[in-house]
Amino acid sequence: MEGFIRQILGWREFIRGVYWRDMPGMAQANHLHAHEPLPGWWWTADTPMACLRDAIGQTLRHGYAHHIQRLMVTGLFALLARLRPDQVAAWYLAVYVDAVEWVELPNVAGMTLYANGGRFTSKPYAASGAYIQRMSNHCQGCRYKPAVKTGPQACPFTTLYWAFLDRHEAEFASHPRTALMVKNLQRLSGPDRQAIRDWAEVVLDEHVRRCAAA
Ligand SMILES: Cc1cc2nc3c(=O)[nH]c(=O)nc-3n(C[C@H](O)[C@H](O)[C@H](O)COP(=O)(O)OP(=O)(O)OC[C@H]3O[C@@H](n4cnc5c(N)ncnc54)[C@H](O)[C@@H]3O)c2cc1C
Ligand code: SF4
Repeated sequence: MEGFIRQILGWREFIRGVYWRDMPGMAQANHLHAHEPLPGWWWTADTPMACLRDAIGQTLRHGYAHHIQRLMVTGLFALLARLRPDQVAAWYLAVYVDAVEWVELPNVAGMTLYANGGRFTSKPYAASGAYIQRMSNHCQGCRYKPAVKTGPQACPFTTLYWAFLDRHEAEFASHPRTALMVKNLQRLSGPDRQAIRDWAEVVLDEHVRRCAAA
């Protein structure tokens, strides 16, 4: 009953209202200063990351992925890898059979990328590879390890998650729903945090910057 009332009777109306209230600014919003280009493999699913290969491959084949694949696999990667909100929104609009801007854009810019600074979400949906491991069976067949933060075996989600917290520490430390994540970050030593920053650059070079779409 909760799913029916919230998702079908209420949520879509709410999202539609948000769209009309916040446009056209929502289309340009970039609260987290995300400027990396959309990688070309978002159009081919050619990536060694098993979870993304599956979610994007299914999307390209069927024009459909369920909510958690959109929010917590493709969307999560886009958030952590600082992909440009306008390019990410254009991708979601192009690939899904149900894509219409009034529902796609609030989900992408508002809910997934926190590009509007949390106008209608109480926190960014940031998580590490451990979340995907808990919720799916993708990690078993993946070349990366979700628990590893740095080095060639590190899961890119995990590296980028810690780098994301590190980058936004000041903002998220004062937010009641993200303060605990920041506390966990603050338990890491200075050298460990520097290693995460350095490895995050390697991950971005390999999976994003060198793969920009033509
Ligand atoms: C990044 C991103 C982009 C999205 N783009 C679109 C889009 O272009 N068009 C679209 O219709 N939905 C979009 N959604 C919302 C949602 O993912 C889809 O409606 C959903 O995948 C439908 O299938 P489901 O089985 O996951 O639905 P369930 O979770 O079972 O939900 C049942 C129904 O509730 C509605 N619903 C649930 N969550 C949302 C939501 N966040 N926003 C709006 N409606 C919702 C849908 O009508 C859905 O069919 C997007 C979500 C994200 C995170
Ligand atoms: S290890 Fe990381 S990249 Fe691989 S499937 Fe799991 S979450 Fe995805």
